[in-house]
Amino acid sequence: MGRGIYDKKVLEAFAKVPREEFVPPEYKHLAYEDYPLPIGAGQTISQPYMVAIMLQEMHLKGDEKVLEVGAGSGYVVALLAQICREVWGIERIESLAIQAQERLRKLGYTNAHIVVGDGTKGLPSEAPFDAILVSAAAKKVPQALLEQLAEGGRLVIPLESNYVQILTIIEKKKGKFIEREAGPCIFVPLIEE
Ligand code: SAM
Repeated sequence: MGRGIYDKKVLEAFAKVPREEFVPPEYKHLAYEDYPLPIGAGQTISQPYMVAIMLQEMHLKGDEKVLEVGAGSGYVVALLAQICREVWGIERIESLAIQAQERLRKLGYTNAHIVVGDGTKGLPSEAPFDAILVSAAAKKVPQALLEQLAEGGRLVIPLESNYVQILTIIEKKKGKFIEREAGPCIFVPLIEE
């Protein structure tokens, strides 16, 4: 992959998860191009390079329980399932969530779960999470996600202001939230119910 992606766990996960299984049949021939593709219901599977940056920013070691908000096709959940102990994905569009869960089951992931719901509320029944990844752009950081982040954990979230989206990393250290920007990005909006 090159281009500043050096985390071995992230690179290995990309090598193992077949992206073509997460896109509709008519886009399979484009599955290994580095751009987003439609997955139905007006949504997209994200650009692989951007996903790699986000996963690398999570600084995962392997024993974490993590949450992805905006699970879409389930591709990022599958990548996380290769890296972490347990992954939960939330998707607000039921048809996408059902398809994603079925794909993960077929591919044999037993540590990956997808639920239907509003991810801005997080997933209180499974919290706390060692890391949270938001795969859609928010206008502000959902309070519930901060509350569900474990001590030492990281929240990786695209934040939009004045039509510009910035990938933002929020680390919880000794109960305080430390924020840092990691460059521009482009995501579909995070929709609050
Ligand atoms: N990570 C996904 C994948 O691997 O295919 C792609 C994510 S797509 C860029 C963003 C997703 O976020 C869409 O599927 C959209 O329906 C979902 N979404 C937007 N707002 C949401 C919310 N409040 N809760 C849950 N999902 C949400």
